[in-house]
Amino acid sequence: MHKIQAWGASAAGKPLAPMSIERREPGPRDVVIEILFCGVCHSDIHQARDEWSGAMFPMIPGHEIVGRVTRVGGEAKKFAVGELAGVGCMVDSCRACGPCTEGLEQFCEKGNAPTYNGTEMDRKTPTYGGYSTEIVVDEGYALRVPTGLDPAGVAPLLCAGITTYSPLRQQGCKPGDRVGVVGLGGLGHMAVKLAASMGAKVTVLSTSAAKEADARRLGAADFVVTKGGNAFERLAGKFDIIVDTVSAPHDYNAYLGLLRPRRAMVLVGAPPAAVPVQPFSLIMGGKQLAGSLIGGIAETQEMLDHCEKHGIVSDIEIIPIQKINEAYERVLASDVRYRFVIDMASLRGPSA
Ligand code: NAP
Ligand code: ZN
Ligand code: ZN
Repeated sequence: MHKIQAWGASAAGKPLAPMSIERREPGPRDVVIEILFCGVCHSDIHQARDEWSGAMFPMIPGHEIVGRVTRVGGEAKKFAVGELAGVGCMVDSCRACGPCTEGLEQFCEKGNAPTYNGTEMDRKTPTYGGYSTEIVVDEGYALRVPTGLDPAGVAPLLCAGITTYSPLRQQGCKPGDRVGVVGLGGLGHMAVKLAASMGAKVTVLSTSAAKEADARRLGAADFVVTKGGNAFERLAGKFDIIVDTVSAPHDYNAYLGLLRPRRAMVLVGAPPAAVPVQPFSLIMGGKQLAGSLIGGIAETQEMLDHCEKHGIVSDIEIIPIQKINEAYERVLASDVRYRFVIDMASLRGPSA
């Protein structure tokens, strides 16, 4: 074991502060990654504030990690020292159950090992995330990072990218489909870019009128403010796919009314409270309300390769780790354009 620098929460809702944690010495299949950039996901905030309950402290958030491989275990073949590597929301799973063998490691029957706020598969050793200088991970759960893309802009693809790519693929998104994206934050802006890259005609449904120009620049053909006005009447029955990325409770029934018959609205946003769904919102039109959780490892690599092909990265604002608490407040105020990414050099410098 060796000590490294990190920032984390010592208890639910406490401001994040510097702390040191221990990383394991690399095993035969491990890679050691010097973390260059880590994205700030709204899930980091939900968990650091224990909004989904069951949080484990101290917590080092961060599951949108891009870094450089500095050491590889004796049997590790996937990476050479000096290459870029990414880590998303999982660092291990059982590798033997049905979901694991089908490339759905996120749904491992034994429970995957999340990158933070959980344990390794021994169910004892706590995992710590990417707001830190280094991570040690089994090479099978590390992703190859396209070299032609800005590594800071790639970091958010490891969660926001795969979380929106996967439901679009599951729903068979194809050229000409009308896709509604609810909420233009970190996930939402990736949903717009990815759906547009698949040839869909994208409409952003937002509570923030000021985001219209951005939505169009990101690839949306239409932008609708959902507060007030007649958006819900005007767009009734228009969409083939709706991806709902909103982090706070809101009325799903209203959005289900915007689907064409037999089509699906997929929830990826995870508000920490139950929301009533009226049976007739689904029965009328034979609609589906679905959910989606990140994506498997192979699908995450497929998403990164898709982004390389289409030149897609996240729109980011780079911050030093010392600004993380301020960044959390801005995310909560829907004031993020469109993902904060921590430059981890700030954690290695003299002021750290
Ligand atoms: P984010 O950057 O904060 O974006 C959320 C967006 O939702 C905001 O920008 C805002 O967009 C909209 N919004 C916020 N509060 C709202 C309210 N009260 N009513 C209506 N709209 C509201 O968050 P994110 O990082 O994209 O994450 C979004 C959600 O997805 C979080 O709950 C997160 O935990 C979850 N998540 C799920 C997965 C998964 O695998 N399923 C993975 C990652 C994250 P407008 O200003 O455009 O309205
Ligand atoms: Zn996330
Ligand atoms: Zn499994």
